[in-house]
Amino acid sequence: MTLTTTKTPTLADAKRIVIKTGSALVTHEATGHPRHEWMASLAADVAALRAAGKQVILVSSGAVSLGRNLLSLKSKSALPLHEKQAAAACGQVALMDAWKAQFASHQLTVAQLLLTLDTSEFRRRYLNARNTIETLLELGAVPIVNENDTVATAELRIGDNDRLAARVAEMAGADALLILSDIDGFYTADPSKNPDATHIPVVAALTPEIEAMAGGSGSAVGTGGMVTKLQAVKIAHAAGCHTWIGAGRPLHPVAALQQQGGGTWFTASATPASARKRWIGGTVNPTGSLTVDTGAEKALAQGNSLLAVGVVAVAGDFDKGEVVRIVSSSGTVLGKGLVAYDAIETRLIMGKKTDAFEALIGYKGKTALIHRDDMVLE
Ligand code: ADP
Repeated sequence: MTLTTTKTPTLADAKRIVIKTGSALVTHEATGHPRHEWMASLAADVAALRAAGKQVILVSSGAVSLGRNLLSLKSKSALPLHEKQAAAACGQVALMDAWKAQFASHQLTVAQLLLTLDTSEFRRRYLNARNTIETLLELGAVPIVNENDTVATAELRIGDNDRLAARVAEMAGADALLILSDIDGFYTADPSKNPDATHIPVVAALTPEIEAMAGGSGSAVGTGGMVTKLQAVKIAHAAGCHTWIGAGRPLHPVAALQQQGGGTWFTASATPASARKRWIGGTVNPTGSLTVDTGAEKALAQGNSLLAVGVVAVAGDFDKGEVVRIVSSSGTVLGKGLVAYDAIETRLIMGKKTDAFEALIGYKGKTALIHRDDMVLE
């Protein structure tokens, strides 16, 4: 799919959409119960997008608020980490229970993904999550993602689901990220502090002027507020994904935004596919390499995927989904790509046809060792 940057993007143009909703939209602050009516309306919106042929991934917070109530941790002040983790563990069940019921009335099956996004490990770990998301979408489920607050330590927590949602958009190769917020978009200044602030419908580039307009939460870690949202926008942009920040409060928030417009689009200049290739091409130190025979070399030059049958040697250690080098039998580096099997499996299946994979590694995996969309040639 191609979203051009010359016109304002729309969800209608997007194929894969990540929708982020915060705790305040999903839970009643006073009672600590789910906001069922609102959740039902968002589930209906997602079902409508699905009916229009879109794939949708939901990023939903709310576990800690719901769990707090379930465990009678009612004090207004912030919870200490261990209680927060306990609340997240209980509340996540309640959160998914509520979503499951709402999506079930549209005959949609939900799937839960809890991610910990420690950035140093991020690339390696997320590739497994990416495969899972891909499979779930292919099978027609609605993946619902949250940060895994039960095991994330304070230092490792992303801490806000705006950035988590952007990471999910990145890993899923989404073309649009919709952040449902308390505010109806981006203003020239924080409207809660500056009554003269005016709404900006489209932001084409995150210039220093734009960044200066965003007010944060004022805390040292800088989570919350527009500063965090702009960080999310940056992550999404680097992945070729447009970001739309819009009012989440009304019932049927997505339908309302689509019909009435509003919110702020932050347009990305690349497409997810080109951004992905840039990332693969930019990997400086792949941990492994695959040597291919002349037949495979020719096939790659013609734009085909790399099949295990054309691989004659495997060097180094790598996980499934890591970037490896592709080398010719004379030692010339041909390119780089994301490998669909880990080093041990690759050593077992090299030189073999796909129908032999199951007997060798115990499952029938992907046909291509490196898919052409995951490959950058020199
Ligand atoms: P959420 O509704 O997703 O929880 P946040 O409260 O984290 O959103 O961030 C939205 C808030 O950011 C707004 O309510 C507003 O007070 C603040 N803000 C700071 N700068 C801006 C800006 N330039 N435009 C819009 N809102 C801004």
